[in-house]
Amino acid sequence: MTNKQRDQHMHEERRERLRHLMVEHGVDACLATPSSDMFYLAGIAAHASERPTVLAVLASSESTLVVPQLETSGLPNLGATRVIAYGETGDPAGTLADVVREKNDRPLVAISDTAYASHLLRLQLALPTAAFQPMTPLLRLLRMRKTGQEIRVLREAGNRIDRAFQALLEESFAERTEVEIGERLRKRVRDEGLSDAAWGPIVASGPNSASPHHEAADRRIADGDAILLDFGGQLEGYQADITRTIHVGEPSEKFRHVYGVVREAQEAGVNAARVGAEAQAVDAATRDMIAAAGFADFFIHRTGHGIGLDVHEEPYIVAGNSTRIDPGMAFSVEPGVYLPREFGVRIEDIVVMDGTGGAIRCTEARRDLVIVG
Ligand code: ZN
Ligand code: ZN
Ligand code: ZN
Repeated sequence: MTNKQRDQHMHEERRERLRHLMVEHGVDACLATPSSDMFYLAGIAAHASERPTVLAVLASSESTLVVPQLETSGLPNLGATRVIAYGETGDPAGTLADVVREKNDRPLVAISDTAYASHLLRLQLALPTAAFQPMTPLLRLLRMRKTGQEIRVLREAGNRIDRAFQALLEESFAERTEVEIGERLRKRVRDEGLSDAAWGPIVASGPNSASPHHEAADRRIADGDAILLDFGGQLEGYQADITRTIHVGEPSEKFRHVYGVVREAQEAGVNAARVGAEAQAVDAATRDMIAAAGFADFFIHRTGHGIGLDVHEEPYIVAGNSTRIDPGMAFSVEPGVYLPREFGVRIEDIVVMDGTGGAIRCTEARRDLVIVG
């Protein structure tokens, strides 16, 4: 079997499993629009635009792809999937409505979360008797549980991102801007054969590190700064994501203390990630530790997010999420403490759940306090 045949087979199997779930949940059609949903189900890396591209997975018959004529040349082998190409004056909403209505006049339709509102609104006009719902509640049941192959790719991406971080530590930091360090970081990631992440990198120095999603800016890094580095890359469409906080020159007692608290909290979170536990138990484990140290008000985000084809996907590691942790799940454990106008510390690793019940870290870059020049 060639790789292409293997991929085609894998995508067919995913669509087949989705169809079983659809029957179980009474959903007639799943409409995947250009996003990780479409890539997951058919290996199509289409870009979203004003011209709709929609993969309709139907509970009762073969899937159909409705696609602009000018986008058909780059399509992978789609097996038995019917392809309907439309021209510049075509009516994709009407075409799609006919496909969806084929077997049921009052269909229940699930659609990708990121579908353009304009496309959905036109489809709703074309399908006045249909009911619509988001697709994620169904598709998450598949995407949250990674296969052995997906886990292998996530772990390999993690190994490479570890090496990129290690290589970055050879740089000098003082007197350089966040943007410069961000560029060096991107280069190190590419050197490892990863493609650029769809976000960041976050290079947040000094007081900027107290803003969890700060992006690299013109600030010049100085002696005495903390530097929070949150970055990733992509391997075969799968995402890597890591955060380390390093320090330029000798840190204060206060910084050392906060760093130790976050490191212990992150450890506690990884230890709480066990098959059978609820997602929110992992959040509670890190949060309790940080609260006990008196920093509850300064941990201002959830503990983590699932990861796979998207850098943020289900399961979210947050209070109130009672999703049971299953083998094959992959998510981040990334507690942080952010002291406004002073500094922030976050430590993040991706973990995958293996068959034995515990968590394996995909990223193992050193977590001790690294002091750079
Ligand atoms: Zn984030
Ligand atoms: Zn993350
Ligand atoms: Zn991150």
